[in-house]
Amino acid sequence: MIAIIGGGAAGFFAAIRACEVNPEAEVVIYEKGKNPLAKVAVTGGGRCNLTNSFAVVKDLKNVYPRGDKLMKRLFKTFDYRDTYEWFESRGVPLVTQDDECVFPQSQSSQSIIDCLLKESSRLGVKVKTNYALADITPQDGQLLLHFEGHAEPILAQRVVITTGGHPHQSSFDYLKRLGHEIVSPVPSLFTFNINDSAFRDLMGTVVANAQMSVVGERMRSEGPLLITHWGMSGPCVLRLSSYAARWASERNYRFRVAVNWVGESNCNSVVQSIESLASQHTARQLDNVHPFGLPSRLWSYLLQKAGLPPEKRWGELGRKGINRLMEVFTNDVYTVEGKSRWRDEFVTCGGVSLASINSNTLQSKHVPGLYFAGEVTDVDAVTGGFNLQAAWTMGYIAGENCAKS
Ligand SMILES: Cc1cc2nc3c(=O)[nH]c(=O)nc-3n(C[C@H](O)[C@H](O)[C@H](O)COP(=O)(O)OP(=O)(O)OC[C@H]3O[C@@H](n4cnc5c(N)ncnc54)[C@H](O)[C@@H]3O)c2cc1C
Repeated sequence: MIAIIGGGAAGFFAAIRACEVNPEAEVVIYEKGKNPLAKVAVTGGGRCNLTNSFAVVKDLKNVYPRGDKLMKRLFKTFDYRDTYEWFESRGVPLVTQDDECVFPQSQSSQSIIDCLLKESSRLGVKVKTNYALADITPQDGQLLLHFEGHAEPILAQRVVITTGGHPHQSSFDYLKRLGHEIVSPVPSLFTFNINDSAFRDLMGTVVANAQMSVVGERMRSEGPLLITHWGMSGPCVLRLSSYAARWASERNYRFRVAVNWVGESNCNSVVQSIESLASQHTARQLDNVHPFGLPSRLWSYLLQKAGLPPEKRWGELGRKGINRLMEVFTNDVYTVEGKSRWRDEFVTCGGVSLASINSNTLQSKHVPGLYFAGEVTDVDAVTGGFNLQAAWTMGYIAGENCAKS
């Protein structure tokens, strides 16, 4: 029997692939909760951003801060094109948005869930719910599975662990006891709390092309930035939170970030743009001309921060005024004081160390017959469909290898 532990994205892909490779095998998914695929249901705000076109991904490290090398290797077997083909050939048409995120054409995660349930049932996968794995004991080359509240352990020949991410170290204890290295889990994909009421009053303001960096570190990101009633959010912030996940956790989510509001990091070009505005609009008040298309409320806030009166004329800026504007446009520093969740979306940074897993087969290096796939491993990504893509890819490969061996 092949036991898949966890009925999520990676678990269903592992089970389906195992059946395809070895139709004789009995494949059973053991799911802790009442319903399988519960997390897939809420992904992408209920629309399920199931993958990405990868069209603008220059380096996998930029989207997989942890696990880029493993994903590069595994994508040779099953990548985003395979995911696309997999779902479309099973009757789920997909669409790629302008931002390269891929969704089902139905705009409902239920299409993805229905497809996975239909395909697994067609192949004879059994799904047992209310089975929470508590421990594994290797026994004569097989694996004895102990489930909470189930007196009798279950014997399996092969086991794939696809239990997803978890913020508490204790949920990895049974895997640690078996010799696996566990990278301590911390949350990734969070938004920044900023304790500045004048700034938070700008809530709802969106800057389409911002850049952000952690002061004194090499971590930086770019993209849309949204000002919220608690601080900062949007893809630019979520991406930086992913890069800085462990670093920020070690500092109790207290650190400084520098924002470049104008999406231009070359200070000379920024100065030139300000000089050109100053010479074009000599007689107009500063607050009447919005440089770089900045939203008006943000522009007023930045003027105040730069210590420049809004009624001052562009022609009166002088060198000092130009430098002050340049600084506030390109290096506007904020103190982050804590984190918040973004639409309840988060992933776990950390988990079963890749040093404990064979990078070709996803088999454990410590327990023969045991495999890993998905967020339970120390692989996680920025938003955009990359996390689910990792789950499909790893599930497919773990399922294939456990059924072959
Ligand atoms: C609100 C939200 C929205 C998201 N949106 C997106 C998105 O649009 N695109 C994207 O790419 N990523 C998204 N993500 C991330 C993505 O959902 C996960 O990375 C992905 O689901 C991981 O798949 P998985 O199969 O590894 O784990 P999961 O999908 O979490 O599945 C793990 C399963 O294992 C079960 N389980 C846990 N412990 C045990 C146990 N001891 N015994 C038995 N079963 C167990 C769980 O109940 C669960 O069903 C989102 C995450 C959240 C929280």
